[in-house]
Amino acid sequence: MFDVKADELDLYYAEYVALSAKCKYHRCTHVTEPECEVKRRVNEGALSKDRYDRYVKLLTELKNAKKTY
Ligand SMILES: [Zn+2]
Repeated sequence: MFDVKADELDLYYAEYVALSAKCKYHRCTHVTEPECEVKRRVNEGALSKDRYDRYVKLLTELKNAKKTY
């Protein structure tokens, strides 16, 4: 369906990559990690919730797809 690997997804979300520097974890996926700057800004309304929801959905689909290999 998507010709995108899970770890390439952040290339399509450049602003999340920029914020990663402020996340607690270096390899933060911005989904389940605590003290995540992206999640904080989504909750504040500074980042689009719709866009974030799509990101989470896409990331989940990519991870699930990976498991079937
Ligand atoms: Zn994060």
